[in-house]
Order: sequence, then C-alpha cells, then structure tokens
Amino acid sequence: MARYPHADWDPIPETESQPRTKPWGVVLHTAVSNSKNIKNVWLGSSVESHFYVAEDGNVLQYVDTERVAHCQMDGNYFSGGKGHISIETWDGAGRVWDGRDVKRLPRWNAAQIASFATLLAWLNKSHGVPLVKLPSVFGRGIGWHAQYTGRDYPRFNESHACPAPARIAQVEEVIAAAVRQAKAATPQSKPPSKPQSKPPSKPAKPLVSVFALAKAAKSDPKRAQGGVTSGAADDVKVVENALKAEGLLPTRYAGDGSFGSLTIEAYAKWQRRCGYTGKDADGIPGTSSVKKLGDKHGFRVGA
Ligand SMILES: [Zn+2]
Repeated sequence: MARYPHADWDPIPETESQPRTKPWGVVLHTAVSNSKNIKNVWLGSSVESHFYVAEDGNVLQYVDTERVAHCQMDGNYFSGGKGHISIETWDGAGRVWDGRDVKRLPRWNAAQIASFATLLAWLNKSHGVPLVKLPSVFGRGIGWHAQYTGRDYPRFNESHACPAPARIAQVEEVIAAAVRQAKAATPQSKPPSKPQSKPPSKPAKPLVSVFALAKAAKSDPKRAQGGVTSGAADDVKVVENALKAEGLLPTRYAGDGSFGSLTIEAYAKWQRRCGYTGKDADGIPGTSSVKKLGDKHGFRVGA
C-alpha cells in the first residue's frame, strides 16, 4: 500500500485487483485533456494511470503505486514483478490547443513542474526511483511515453508522440527540479568531521608501594609536623586521599604526603573497617588492607 501523501486519493476499482508490483521507474504522459480529473476516462477502461497532474498542479492518485497500472505497454509490468509508475498530465486539449497537432501542445506549466518535483522526490524516497533519465525500457529512472516507441517488444507504445515534443524537451528540467526538491527535503548531512582523535585514555592508576607506606608510617610520626619520608610521599598522598574519601582523615591533613600520627589514626580506622583488630589494626599499612583501599579508590598496590 503506497499512496502519495500530497495527492487527492481517488482510487479506481482496479487498484484493489491489479497485480502487485515494485515501482521501478516513472513514465511521463500527456492526457490530451482539459479536465481537472481524468478518473472517468479510466473507469470501465482497460488502461489507467497511477497519477494525474492537473493544470493547477493538483495531483490525483488513482492506483496504489504498488499495483500495476496500464499506461505504457511493456513498461507496465515486467520481470521480477517490477513496473513503471505512470503520471498523466493536463495539457488543455480543446482549449489551449486542438487536441490533434501535438506540435502545438503546450509545455508543462510551472505549477505542474513543481508538482512533478515533489512527487518524483517522494517516489525516489519511498521506492528508490533514481532521479535520472530512464536509461532503458526496463531500467530505473524518469522516462516518457514516446521514449521507447516501436513495433517490437519491448516498447512503451507502438506509434505515438506522448507527451509531445514541447514536453519531452522539458524532461531534463523536470528531473533537475526533482533533484533540488529531494535535496531540500533531506536534512543536510553533517560536514565531514575531523579525524576523530582517540578518546583520552584513562590515566593509569597510580601504583602504591606497601613497603614505602609502611616505612613512612613508621618514620613520619617522629618527624616534625608534615615531614615526609624520601621516596614515599607520593604513595602516602594517594592513601591519604583515599582515607579522606572514606571520611577518616580531615581534609587539611590529606595529601601532604606525611604519614603522621593523624594518618596513622585514620589508617587504623580503615583497618578496623576491614575487620582487623588489635595489632593488625595498628595503623601501619599492610598489603591486604592497602589492596582493599586501592580497589575501592582506584590505585594499584605493589610491594
Ligand atoms: Zn502517454
């Protein structure tokens, strides 16, 4: 089921019974008619078109685009269940020209061209019909009835000039308008972005030495306030920040790199949190409690 949303849906009974088809291309016609609607021409007839574009650009749809319409002989339905969509068009026959001398048939007007553009852009989007000139009888693109005229299979008709020279000369203009319409209807794709730089890799987790921590914990409390153990201060800072995050060490003592008495006290609390008691919770870091702290606060632990 495929109906063009900008058409007046005015189905003929055949739309229910025609074979299903995959819309493959488009064939443009002229109806030799001054009517606003040519549905009556198709009723009770063995031929029909999918669409009609009236003088004012109004579009009528008579047959579902996924059903066959018979408007262009061998182009109606062909191998693989494919078929071309037919678009009939007002030409003012009997008012603008005499309906006989096709050399006098008028060009499509601006309203009709605008309607073609929107309809063809929709056929492009909905059915994948390329917005190029039809390259062969069974090819994909936008063609016209007289494009393949002849007595032998395959052809769109045997002998006539539809949609007449003035309109055949406009096919390129019609296709160009459809291409503009399709582009306007498609959100512009983003400009190509710069080559993506790699997402910043996570900083490597700091590596903390239990040996250095223990050395600092045994030495720093004897030093002057804030005194640090050479080679251990960075490790101590990592542990202090973890203890601060645990709520065990006041901020002002955190991160000074000195494993002083307050840090010892805070670390002893951490050991008790880990389930140690007595001598095992003396505030001197041991491997297992440091590892637990590191697992929780993002540092690795070495000897
Ligand atoms: Zn025709």
